[in-house]
Amino acid sequence: TDIRGKRTDSRSKAAFERAKRSIPGGVNSPVRAFKSVGLTPLVIERAAGSRITDIDGQTYIDYVLSWGPLIAGHAHPEVVEAIKRAAERGTSFGAPTELETEMAELVCERMPSVEVVRMVNSGTEATMSALRLARGFTGRSKILKFEGSYHGHADSLLIKAGSGVATLGLPDSPGIPESVATHTIAVPYNDIESVKLAFEKFGEEIAAVIVEPVAGNMGVVPPLPGFLQGLRDVTAKYGALLIFDEVMTGFRVGYYSAQGLYKVTPDLTCMGKVIGGGLPVGAYGGRRDIMDKVAPVGPIYQAGTLSGNPLAMTAGLTTLKLMTESQYAMLERLAVRLQAGLERSASEFGVELTVNRVGSMVCPFLTDKQVINFETARSSNVERFKTIFTRMLDAGVNLPPSQFEGWFLSTAHTEADIDASIEGFRTALSKL
Ligand code: PMP
Repeated sequence: TDIRGKRTDSRSKAAFERAKRSIPGGVNSPVRAFKSVGLTPLVIERAAGSRITDIDGQTYIDYVLSWGPLIAGHAHPEVVEAIKRAAERGTSFGAPTELETEMAELVCERMPSVEVVRMVNSGTEATMSALRLARGFTGRSKILKFEGSYHGHADSLLIKAGSGVATLGLPDSPGIPESVATHTIAVPYNDIESVKLAFEKFGEEIAAVIVEPVAGNMGVVPPLPGFLQGLRDVTAKYGALLIFDEVMTGFRVGYYSAQGLYKVTPDLTCMGKVIGGGLPVGAYGGRRDIMDKVAPVGPIYQAGTLSGNPLAMTAGLTTLKLMTESQYAMLERLAVRLQAGLERSASEFGVELTVNRVGSMVCPFLTDKQVINFETARSSNVERFKTIFTRMLDAGVNLPPSQFEGWFLSTAHTEADIDASIEGFRTALSKL
């Protein structure tokens, strides 16, 4: 990473201009466009371990990690080798394989609440399917979600959403019929009183509460003590289901995911990102009596041509097996080191900073407020974020291009990577 002071983006610029002529905004997912930071995105050539290299030939320490999946780092040799071997045996069969059962058994062992699990191809598919199941199982229509949470782009869930829609200021996307939107109730994260009020009013109509057990799409916001248990209690009282969206937190915040960390048992769990080891995978699972309503056992339909395909199962299984409990302990130590360095730099230069962190999800907010929900997340100085983001790139550090996204660490990151990143952060803050 030796690009200090001489970073160029001429090739990336040309490639991005070309892409814009045939791809909407030049990207296949909006957060990649660097729109809110006003720069040309790095167009990527390759990546390995903790490093990502753009087509201008510059290498950065990467904290995006494909937005979370790559917990063992980019192109981990064992994962790549396993994918190659799997590919030689065929890329998809549309018929059962033993790999899928192996994956299901591993998920059931590692996700405390999951008894049965169905594989899909993305986090969006996982949450969309879990919602349909919750509605079919309860015979109710309404769902409750939290402001600034992102659960993928299914119609019912793109209401007061976080992540890219928050970054671009489009929380309520056009194209969602009023008749669908009216079934979604959104209340502030960490606000159990608002949840109780919603249930007092609509209790008999609410099929499910869907929650990120650690919010990761308004920046990182941990659950306040008692919040998740409060959701468990209120949903149980009214006969609604509790859905944990662990697409981001699953196999990320700890060996037993967020439900193991906080010891709260949801009825259904959505998974994605890490479970696919960098290939397109999602999953949803939970209580057997609920999952038994899914076709072909039950009447609620959900299917997928490429679901559970051998390449994706292989990448996911290999990654999950690499992640032993001691690997999570190592990630925790690295993340603590990063958090401490960011906080030290901020106090050195008198910059207002609140760092939220759970495991290897880290998020510095440029505010002195405690960040507990979307409203307090928005108190962050986003203009200042832009400046820091740009200077971090110049220092050879690739961050998520939005204040409302977390930074991810991998087991490929070293203490030297962390220290170099902290040094970059110091430089970024010193000239504010
Ligand atoms: N749920 C959560 C919590 C997520 O963070 C995301 C993606 N960032 C999704 C769902 C949607 O997953 P995907 O992008 O794979 O559709």
